[in-house]
Parts: sequence; C-alpha cells; structure tokens
Amino acid sequence: MILLTGVAGFIGMHMARRLLAQGMVVVGVDHLGPCADPAIKARRLAQLRHAPGLCFFQLDLAEADDVETLFAEHRFECVIHLAAQTGVRYSMEHPHECVRNNVVAFANVIECCRRHGVGHLLYASSSSTYGANRSMPFSEHHGANHPVSLYAATKRSDELLAHSYSHLYGLPTTGLRFFTVYGPWGRPDMAPMLFAHAITQGRPIQVFNSGRMLRDFTYIDDVVESIARVAERPAMSNPAFDPAQPDPATSHAPYRIYNVGNQEPVALGDFIAELERALGRKAERVMRPMPEADMLATCADTRDLQQAIQWAPSTPLATGIGHFVRWFHDYHA
Ligand code: NAD
Repeated sequence: MILLTGVAGFIGMHMARRLLAQGMVVVGVDHLGPCADPAIKARRLAQLRHAPGLCFFQLDLAEADDVETLFAEHRFECVIHLAAQTGVRYSMEHPHECVRNNVVAFANVIECCRRHGVGHLLYASSSSTYGANRSMPFSEHHGANHPVSLYAATKRSDELLAHSYSHLYGLPTTGLRFFTVYGPWGRPDMAPMLFAHAITQGRPIQVFNSGRMLRDFTYIDDVVESIARVAERPAMSNPAFDPAQPDPATSHAPYRIYNVGNQEPVALGDFIAELERALGRKAERVMRPMPEADMLATCADTRDLQQAIQWAPSTPLATGIGHFVRWFHDYHA
C-alpha cells in the first residue's frame, strides 16, 4: 500500500492516476487548503473519485496526532510525499504557513515513516534549492545551500531532515528536485495557466526580466514516469550522493537526491511564443523587473537519475504545450 500526499495537487493527481492504473492500492491525503486554488483541487479529486483502489483522507499533515493515526491504521510500504505549500511568492506572503506545511508536515511524515518501518520515503524537492548557484546545468554534486526564497529554504530543510533520518535510522529516502513542471491540470498560480487565462481573455501578461529568464520546463508525464520508476526501485545499490558531504565514503547509502528536469532550458519569451501559437492568439506583454526571490535560470543535470532508473524526458515543449492547451480549452468549456 502506498501513501500519496498532496493527492489533490497538480503532480499528486497525475501520480495517483498512474499508480491506480498500475493496480496499486493508494491512500491519498490532502488538506485541500487555500493555497494554489481550492476549486481546481476539488475538480482534480473528482477525476479520481471513481477509481477503484483509492482511499482519500482530508487531513492536515502538520497535525502530528492525525498523521500518527493515519500511519497506525495503515501499513505503508512506500510513501510519496508531494504535499507542500507551493509558490515562491506565496511563501513570502505566508511565511508561517509555509514552514508549517513544508517543514512541520514533512517532519511529521518522516518521523512516522521511521516509527512504522516504511520501506521508502520519496519526497518532492525543488530546483529552487540551487538558489544562487550560477553554474549550469545544476548538478546534485554542487552545493544547494544558498536558497534565495523561503519556499526554497523549506525544501532544502526537508532534504537535510531526510539526510539525518537516513543516517541515524537507515530510512531509505529519495528527494526529487523538480524543475518547473507543466501540463494539463497545472497550477493556476504558475506561468502557463496565468498566461493562458490572460491571453484568452485579452488581458495583458506580466513578463519579468524582458522574458529572458530561462526555465527548464518539464512535462508532467515525464515527471510522473520518473517518480514511478524511483518508487519501484527503493533498494538500488547505486551509492547515494550527499550534496552537503560529497565524499562517497561518508555518504549514507539509502539517502538519495535526484534532479528531475528536461535539460533544455527555454527563455520565458520563447515559452510565451509557443503558447501564443497553440492558443492562436497574441499576448499583450507588460514588462516588469526581475523579482528578488526568483532565479535567473534553471537547468537540470539529470545524468545521475538517468543512470539510476534509465529515465529521460521525452516530451518536446511544443507537444507538451499542445496537450496543455487542449486540456485548457476543455476545462473552461
Ligand atoms: P500543488 O500545490 O498543486 O499540490 C500540493 C498539494 O499539497 C495541494 O493540493 C495542497 O492542498 C496539499 N497540501 C499542502 N499542505 C498540506 C498539508 N499540511 N497537509 C495536507 N496537504 C497539504 O503543487 P504541485 O505543483 O503538485 O507540487 C507537488 C510537489 O512538488 C510540491 O512539494 C512542490 O513543492 C514540488 N515541486 C513542484 C514543482 C512544479 O513545477 N509544480 C516544482 C518543484 C517542486
């Protein structure tokens, strides 16, 4: 049995679909909180409701007693922890909520994984942990200790907690640093949805740094595939890498961190142009300066992950945007 947290979220919903299609029994948890638009969460959940094999609990993972009860009542072989308060800007407006949902909730989950003998904790981290790291592509072998946003700091905190649990208790943990995931059922606070809404309604879009920011846009199906493959192989003999302590002799075997990205950064301006093509409408651009908590560029080095699970992203940007736009029209029909 698998515990999937953040099941009403963008990646969580797709992940649930994938696991259920494989015939897995999934316990899905989400608190359906106010961040990242509750309306779309309800509609994502409605997509999953009739799937046999899914048991949904509305539960706040920051409440330690509720998490303990959940683990006491089920026997989870694997936990896929995707729940988080997402969004760099939202984290700055809601700092306490961010720490509560991203660090306290993670601490509750990992402690229960230890106490209840979970075989593998797989959790979502983020490209934002690389922060002020300017050498591209970002490698897990370079430091990620200078986050430039509160959101990124909470994600890095989770990685450090995971390291200590792996080291102290031998709990197998895998952190996946996702790079700007996009696709159908995407988050309303992220660029593809914000832009698609504005363009179709004839409203201007805000473009930071003249559209020169580079993002390693990664299609949702590629991300889900990577999670599924990692979840299938908890006991890989590949020695774990510790970004804080890159000496393999001191790395602890069950602790792993991998980048999940497309390895092809795209300028935001080019992304918008592709979206305009797919929507068949032009955007009116309003130029804005670069926000301080944003990163100028992201690009994943995914060689470690490719070696570990023979995975490579396979969805070109134009194809991914095409799928997204078709879904966007259906969703708003
Ligand atoms: P999302 O906001 O769509 O989903 C997160 C879900 O977690 C939401 O449904 C929310 O209600 C739930 N949640 C938050 N706090 C909770 C709590 N205390 N208890 C129970 N549920 C709670 O986000 P997403 O885009 O699907 O991202 C999934 C994970 O991947 C997150 O951890 C995110 O930080 C990470 N990530 C996403 C991206 C991306 O581009 N989407 C990039 C990097 C990292």
